[in-house]
Amino acid sequence: MEKIEEKVKKTIAKYNLIGKKDKVVVALSGGKDSTSVLYILQKLGYNVEGLMIDLHLGEWSKIHRKNMEKFCDELNVKLTVVDLKKELGMGICFIKSVLKEQKNLTGCTVCGVIKKWILNKWAKRLKADKIATGHNLDDECQTVLMNFLKGNIYLGINSSPATGVPNKGFVQRVKPLFFIPENEIRAYSKKMKFPILYDKCPCAIGTYRVETRAWMENFSGREKLKIVENFQKLIPKLRKKHKTIIQECKICGEPSSTNICNACKIFSCVKNVKK
Ligand code: AMP
Ligand code: ZN
Repeated sequence: MEKIEEKVKKTIAKYNLIGKKDKVVVALSGGKDSTSVLYILQKLGYNVEGLMIDLHLGEWSKIHRKNMEKFCDELNVKLTVVDLKKELGMGICFIKSVLKEQKNLTGCTVCGVIKKWILNKWAKRLKADKIATGHNLDDECQTVLMNFLKGNIYLGINSSPATGVPNKGFVQRVKPLFFIPENEIRAYSKKMKFPILYDKCPCAIGTYRVETRAWMENFSGREKLKIVENFQKLIPKLRKKHKTIIQECKICGEPSSTNICNACKIFSCVKNVKK
């Protein structure tokens, strides 16, 4: 078995991420990370399905969607594609442009909030026990450093291999690649000849995350691991100081730490513009 597959197996066992009876919905972006997660979890004998959000980012989304349809077909895995325009009545570019103008919100935040909201809703609809994402060691390391530089390490309080505060409205999100460096996943995915694109999201240009990624370039895998592992050690202490209370969003009913969830705050901004 490949080293990376062994590492995934260990992470699953150590953090009790998934059970053999669980229905696992793998959130597929079409990139190397989530594609590898789907492939490895199926190989390890887990009950997997694919869930992809078509964000309508032009040709880029079309190619990713086609690739995932082909890939899931070859693996004989069910794939559900949620069309953002059908789901929300608009594509991600429009939403992002409104939020930029009205709230000066840029970067990947808006997209991230909407993706999480849709994935949770649809995972419940699909009766999933877990949502698996392709977040890797580099993503996690970036998040720790970005939160630190923003002066708010509490933002990372839920960043663990199994995220989310236990709540009946949440489908727990798990990250089997949490401790695996991005370059190892890229090499694995290329070796396996997965039918995918390796370019970055066209929206992620000049964002804080991209800048952080650039100055992290000379970090070794060991250093990234140390940063992420040391932050994991801090989390129990941070959680004691900062209790998150989960309630139902007053508008959509989805779980939220405030009475109106972040997704609904975004939608209300966009609705005002459409009127
Ligand atoms: P990103 O936020 O783009 O770095 O993606 C992190 C993880 O979120 C990916 O590895 C996927 O598991 C999931 N994800 C990202 N984009 C999508 C999408 N369009 N549809 C479904 N899942 C996604
Ligand atoms: Zn809401």
